[in-house]
Amino acid sequence: MVISGQKYNINRDWPCPKRKTPVKIVYLPPVNRGLEPNLHLMIQLVLFGKPGAGKGTQAEFLKETYGLKHLSTGDLFRHHIKNGTPLGLLAQSYMDQGALVPDQVTIDMLEEAVDQTPEAKGFIFDGFPRTTAQAEALDAFLAGKNMAVSATIALEAHDEELLVRLLERGKISGRPDDQDETKIRTRFDEYNQKTAPLRNYYQAQNKFYSVDGIGAIEEVKQRIAEVIANLG
Ligand code: ADP
Repeated sequence: MVISGQKYNINRDWPCPKRKTPVKIVYLPPVNRGLEPNLHLMIQLVLFGKPGAGKGTQAEFLKETYGLKHLSTGDLFRHHIKNGTPLGLLAQSYMDQGALVPDQVTIDMLEEAVDQTPEAKGFIFDGFPRTTAQAEALDAFLAGKNMAVSATIALEAHDEELLVRLLERGKISGRPDDQDETKIRTRFDEYNQKTAPLRNYYQAQNKFYSVDGIGAIEEVKQRIAEVIANLG
């Protein structure tokens, strides 16, 4: 394969000792980033960060730039709620309190969404995993498809900034969980207790990348693009 006059080997093995079979390398074109053309494997990104850290905003950029499918468990739950499905009714009872929806319900929904998109070049997991059980389930699920999480990108921001952002978002979106400070603080607590430990989980796999989530959206995009450009 020749891109910009450079020759690439597209049948390289994934340099992961656990992987037994070679996977096809997918060329993901860089768009308007001023980056050198780069080859990536099928790429599975986990976007990590507290509520309001900017995962949804940056997922849009990643989706367009790298041609990945964006899967947000929050959006999936809200879709079910809007359509009045049994899953939506169940999820709503937790979401309204700022609590996490039970693991197995969330895992099943996420896996179904992945299976419904067999043509995807890779996924951006936004809001998933949020617990160790979910992270282990994701690893097992992807391994069953000869895939693995490529990187977990954490958007870092402090609580008081996040609180302001979420209350602003609540005014526009009407999301009930963004309009009440107590619910927002419950979500932060849920994150600290159940989601924050995933930092160690992914660090142990050498897949954790921390990105400063404070600043202009464009600046944060550039920081994320740099992380991706440097992925093995
Ligand atoms: P935010 O990241 O701003 O909290 P989301 O839209 O990602 O917003 O999630 C909204 C709510 O949906 C969460 O507070 C939780 O109740 C539920 N939810 C989303 N993803 C998960 C998950 N992976 N596990 C359990 N509950 C989830």
